Amino acid sequence: MITGKPLFTVEHIQNRVKELASKISEDYEGKELFSVGILRGAFMFFADIVKLIQIPMTIDFINVSSYAKTASTGEITVHTDLRDDIAGKHVLLIEDIIDTGLTLRHIREMLLKRDPASLKICVFLDKKSRRIVEVPLDYVGFEIPNEYVVGYGLDYENKFRNLPYIAIFKKDT
Ligand code: 5GP
Repeated sequence: MITGKPLFTVEHIQNRVKELASKISEDYEGKELFSVGILRGAFMFFADIVKLIQIPMTIDFINVSSYAKTASTGEITVHTDLRDDIAGKHVLLIEDIIDTGLTLRHIREMLLKRDPASLKICVFLDKKSRRIVEVPLDYVGFEIPNEYVVGYGLDYENKFRNLPYIAIFKKDT
């Protein structure tokens, strides 16, 4: 079941996404972006933010998984890689949440080997207290406590992704 009221309401989310998009638009002025959405969790955040970024861009997706239910396994599986070559491009990785940092570190190192002109990371939620490995984050939506959250693309066993807000998830005992 989902407990309590939303941690972040639809309005909260929309306002923060707008702010992030304006900052990104400012920072990349005069450049062209290659936005990479990390599936499946980032699909909703990705769709919302790219609509508001006022920079010419191409988009691509990478589909990875790193979790067994609600605990990180530390093993990252790349199910579908990018379709396009990123050499010489300004890559912006867009992710739903960073927890231990293992997933983003893995993807970042994998993509850096492909010689992008630059690589920045934008995450919607940051569970900073849980970090095991440091990953440079350029844009962060909200820092959150050590709680398992669902909604706005984030799942529990692939459910709840369609909730338009973020809620704390607790399993019935
Ligand atoms: P990390 O590798 O940083 O530990 O974990 C990143 C991935 O774990 C995210 O892409 C996301 O799929 C999943 N994850 C981490 N914390 C949460 C959470 O609170 N809720 C959900 N639904 N997924 C999470």
